[in-house]
Amino acid sequence: MNTAMLNARESVSDEAAEALHVEDLHKRFGSLEVLKGVSLSARDGDVVAVIGGSGSGKSTMLRCINCLENPTSGIIRVNGEEIRLKPDGRGGSVPADRRQIERIRSRLGMVFQSFNLWSHMTLIENVIEVPIHVLGVRRDEAITRADSLLSRVGLLEKRDVYPAFLSGGQQQRGAIARALAVQPRVMLFDEPTSALDPELVGEVLNVIRDLAQEGRTMILVTHEMKFAREVATHVVFLHGGQVEEEGPPDALFGSPKSERLKQFISSVS
Ligand code: ADP
Ligand code: MG
Repeated sequence: MNTAMLNARESVSDEAAEALHVEDLHKRFGSLEVLKGVSLSARDGDVVAVIGGSGSGKSTMLRCINCLENPTSGIIRVNGEEIRLKPDGRGGSVPADRRQIERIRSRLGMVFQSFNLWSHMTLIENVIEVPIHVLGVRRDEAITRADSLLSRVGLLEKRDVYPAFLSGGQQQRGAIARALAVQPRVMLFDEPTSALDPELVGEVLNVIRDLAQEGRTMILVTHEMKFAREVATHVVFLHGGQVEEEGPPDALFGSPKSERLKQFISSVS
């Protein structure tokens, strides 16, 4: 057995309850170092809220976890499996194994800031697409599951509608149903309500709150501080690509230590 295989097996057994582990993550775009050694982890059932000002590196961190960006260095384990990277010869890295990237992505459900349903497909087609074509789920089974997910997010009656005919809040709830359809170990949310009209924010937060109460594991990047305080099990404050402060929500919001965090909290609430 080669070393890489040994390492993969060890990490699977050691990290059984650890759904996500990020360690000393660095990401550089040319001369700009956007992530300067970020560490974060989530065990099953954790809701980790990530807060921080614009440009602090929140989206870049999520994009590294989801393999949409290649980290410059650092360790990322999803579902106990470490993303294997190799040097790209220019000081960065590229995935060592494309199939591994597909496998890791299939363990994650990602919901972005702007509604990203596929516009040429109806809502139900959006939800069954990846289960059928990537995960090999039978069509009838995928449809049964999709109907149940759409019902959970309150959109069953809209199943055959195209995204253009849905409100922003409905589209975002549909995107959540689509992300859940892969039965992810971890859900990643990147400011899921920041592009919504204020009157539509609540319906999306209600769906996320239900998921948190069910014990779904999630990393939630958000500007909704009250909501983060309510649902998070742990809060991480990023500043300038580093974890400036982290802790349980009541401690972090109730008695912040860092001046930058104090300023940040007062600027957004
Ligand atoms: P946040 O989500 O916290 O607002 P981002 O992770 O989007 O922050 O961005 C962090 C910094 O990285 C910003 O300065 C942004 O301009 C820069 N950045 C993000 N993506 C790229 C990219 N593909 N190329 C160059 N710079 C980028
Ligand atoms: Mg962002």
